[in-house]
Amino acid sequence: MPDTVSVPQASIPQDSRRRLPSVDRLLRHPSLQDAIAHHGHKTSLRIVREILDAARENGDSPQMPEDEDSLAQQVLTRFAAWQRPQTREVFNLTGTVIHTNLGRALLSESAIDALTRVARSPVALEYDLDDGGRGDRDDLIEGLLCELTGAEAATVVNNNAAAVVLTLGALGAGREAIVSRGELIEIGGAFRMPDIMAAAGCRLHEVGTTNRTHPRDYREAINEDSGLLVKVHASNYAIEGFTKSVDERELAEIAQAAGLPLVVDLGSGALTDLAAFGLPHETLPSDVIAAGADVVTFSGDKLLGGPQAGIIVGRREHIERIKRHPLKRALRLDKLVLAALEATLRHYRDDDHPERSLPTLRLLCRNVESIHATGERLMDRLAGRIDGFTLELADCMSQLGSGSLPVDRLPSVALVWHSTHARRDERERSLRALAARLRGLERPIIGRIREGALWLDLRCLEEAHEATFLAQLDTLHGEETSA
Ligand SMILES: *Cc1c(COP(=O)(O)O)cnc(C)c1O
Repeated sequence: MPDTVSVPQASIPQDSRRRLPSVDRLLRHPSLQDAIAHHGHKTSLRIVREILDAARENGDSPQMPEDEDSLAQQVLTRFAAWQRPQTREVFNLTGTVIHTNLGRALLSESAIDALTRVARSPVALEYDLDDGGRGDRDDLIEGLLCELTGAEAATVVNNNAAAVVLTLGALGAGREAIVSRGELIEIGGAFRMPDIMAAAGCRLHEVGTTNRTHPRDYREAINEDSGLLVKVHASNYAIEGFTKSVDERELAEIAQAAGLPLVVDLGSGALTDLAAFGLPHETLPSDVIAAGADVVTFSGDKLLGGPQAGIIVGRREHIERIKRHPLKRALRLDKLVLAALEATLRHYRDDDHPERSLPTLRLLCRNVESIHATGERLMDRLAGRIDGFTLELADCMSQLGSGSLPVDRLPSVALVWHSTHARRDERERSLRALAARLRGLERPIIGRIREGALWLDLRCLEEAHEATFLAQLDTLHGEETSA
């Protein structure tokens, strides 16, 4: 985005415009020759023109001095910005490990290898290598998914929201979906259960109350228009106190007695018991399948630690119906994601310690002593480095994020910057300015302002990235800028 201020033409003194060099002359400026050789003529010409146009519009305003050296410098700055991808890598020090706005799970090295391997080459995606005929791309990971969840069959789509819409559409369109009022949730990014049901063509039949739903509520709701029973994992909130819900086993019995399928939207799809690593227990797809659910859906890029995907497992007759739905073709996975998902799932099947090879699990399992050690090393380098702020190391709590285990939090350690301004409004302004400067770095550092300070939760800063992090902060200048 050009950083220019428009000034009415009439106000520009003629003589200052005349002082601008020509496009050709600026292109010949000695300091630009390496960059021009690197970027090529087409891009160089475009950028030089843009800089000169901006200078012309700005006349002799103080922000836009137009001597040739400074114009050349502006061209170089624009070249640097031009090269920068729009998908920027950042440091996620927000304290939310699986952060939807920051791209959720980080892939394992073998998933990254798989993804680049299939990007370079044709692959047998929908091709049967035994008979040379057409194959089904879902077959590439169905075996793994069935083994890991105990389901009979599996299919995959673009994300879990798609998995839910497709499942409801295939199994319940035109009929009633029975769901507890306590589970009519909204998940960030405009995923609201009632809207999803409507989009799938199901009529919502709410049962129970917000805090309590009983087996009889479901039984009494079943009628000739019922299509399915739905249970939604209340991802991002918890109902506490006087509560009652019906578990999957009981619900599966009710559904089976009525001849209706039970669909469970689990949200985060942990494939290993997190309690073994000191994390809160999360229901596994295999638990829900074992309890008798007919179809279970979950995300690929939450607790599973893989690429964005929606995984659907369950009884073969239902999975076949889901696969025959016309939307399946529109929501299918591409070869890159399929390859990364396969490699991710293999960790769970083959590794003794999937929580070490999968970065997202590794970050979640990271112990507070290791985070503290990172903090101590950084304090040595950073204390007193930014004028107008004091820095301390403080205990904090990280969250899993993306709707997983909403109330459970993980002890962690943060770098905390406090403004030294006396006045509260000045402190707030300078904190916002500091946060903006950190976001403005070549590799932005994203923290959180709370309790009158800027917090950088160090859980997601592993030792391997400490040097890059410090190098970024080295480029931060000492003076305070305004927000
Ligand atoms: C996260 C979540 C979804 C949406 O999954 P995406 O993979 O983000 O599309 C749906 N249902 C539940 C319960 C969730 O937690």
